[in-house]
Amino acid sequence: MKLVWFRRDLRIKDNIALTEACRSGEPVIAIYYETPIQWRSHRLAPIQADLIRRRLVVLQQELEALKIPLLVRSVDTYKDINYSLAQLCQQYQIADIYCTRDYESDEVDRDNSIAGMLSLTGTQLHRFDYKCIFAPGTVTNGAGNTYRVFTPFKKAWIARARAENIAPLSAPEPVQTNALTSSLLRQLCNVSFRYPQRDSVGWPIDDSAIIQRLRDFCRYRVDQYDTTRDFPAVPATSQLSPYLAIGAVSPRQCLARLLVEEQNCFEKDSGGANVWLSELVWREFYQHIVAAYTDISKGKAFLDWTETIEWNRDELLFERWKQGRTGFPIVDAAMRQLNDTGWMHNRLRMIVASFLVKDLHIDWRWGEQYFMTKLIDGDFAANNGGWQWSASVGTDAQPYFRVFNPTAQSKKFDPNVRFIRRWLKELESVPDKSLHEPHVWAEKNGIELSYPKPVVDHKLARERAIQMFEMAKSYQ
Ligand code: FAD
Repeated sequence: MKLVWFRRDLRIKDNIALTEACRSGEPVIAIYYETPIQWRSHRLAPIQADLIRRRLVVLQQELEALKIPLLVRSVDTYKDINYSLAQLCQQYQIADIYCTRDYESDEVDRDNSIAGMLSLTGTQLHRFDYKCIFAPGTVTNGAGNTYRVFTPFKKAWIARARAENIAPLSAPEPVQTNALTSSLLRQLCNVSFRYPQRDSVGWPIDDSAIIQRLRDFCRYRVDQYDTTRDFPAVPATSQLSPYLAIGAVSPRQCLARLLVEEQNCFEKDSGGANVWLSELVWREFYQHIVAAYTDISKGKAFLDWTETIEWNRDELLFERWKQGRTGFPIVDAAMRQLNDTGWMHNRLRMIVASFLVKDLHIDWRWGEQYFMTKLIDGDFAANNGGWQWSASVGTDAQPYFRVFNPTAQSKKFDPNVRFIRRWLKELESVPDKSLHEPHVWAEKNGIELSYPKPVVDHKLARERAIQMFEMAKSYQ
């Protein structure tokens, strides 16, 4: 009998672990482990936990149609999976377990430990590199190393994509059953978690709804993506990140659909399809970085010299950033969107991250962790990569002296203040043209607002940030 261990690959289409288990011709069981204590230490957002749980309910039905029972078990930590899996293998006489590899260090350690333990009992853990279109370590520079910057990585990645078959796998055919799997199929378990959950119902979770979202985006919106993607008031991006993060859709499925609509996207250097393709490649790039540089998963900055920066440890200021009460409307509106919905537009993620680090001088890791506790699409590699990029401590770092001006960003990317208006109801009385800097308008008109004054002077904060980086660089 074969066992498929689902982790962040919660789908039946384009799932190599499932396909390989089914190819054996033997009966198959599937399992998913909730690990609440581990999840807490990874700061899994309750809204993402809910999305995973809802997805498991659908997955259970989809697998049932393939005659595969899905068991959902709860153990505290990754370590506890060892014992549970060993027991399961013994109970059901399982000789092979199939799974998709994760690249963060705790997950790599989990799998190595389990593979070692299972080998003593004669069970083999088959791990497949399928989280990315191309496995980490296979898109390398001339010296065989992982690229440290994005642009050459993208070039090499596209050269491979042009040359290789990247068609997604179909869902497998139903498998043979035996007395045991038939009996498990009759008494399928209730999918519930001990981990706290927050309602994710605004995100449809059926396969058909997710695929429809992908199709609609590639058919109707990708063409304008390059010109519209930076405006948070416009629903111009795919909003597929929550599904990619839990593996409800695969990057291969995304690329294949893009190619159906835009056959030439590999050949072009610009245009909506090419820019969207770049985003999928950014996703892969950060996965490759996490796989190659294990210290990244342990809280280290990619650029060592930035580790000597003395960050501001002002918890009250951090609290104001978290709550969206900094007095910078674009920052506050963005943080309230995150707190309220569990999602934030990419441009805003860059603005609030830059603000935390370069205006408030707070450690980027505080922001990175806070994002994970809230994001429905929380993904360690993408989140860490985004934070390190924004803080100028990571790969392909934007030079540290280039600092986002939150007011200029606001005027450029929310020009008619539609986004700010949606989230800052207390500024209703402020006219559109003054909404980027309401305190200036209020002072001029002698009005008292129930909205905070800016917590910092951006010009001075920017100078201080540059000094902090310069000082750290001088110790290099
Ligand atoms: P689209 O614009 O439609 O892009 C398609 C897909 O490409 C996304 O769904 C995502 O999987 C991938 N992608 C897009 N941009 C990036 C990027 N810069 N880096 C890596 N992958 C990308 N993305 C996450 O999926 N999870 C996170 O936890 C996360 N945290 C971030 C934190 C910061 C500080 C920053 C600056 C970015 C972060 N991103 C994260 C990247 C990006 O903001 C989101 O992927 C994007 O906003 C999701 O919206 P979408 O699905 O509409 O993206």
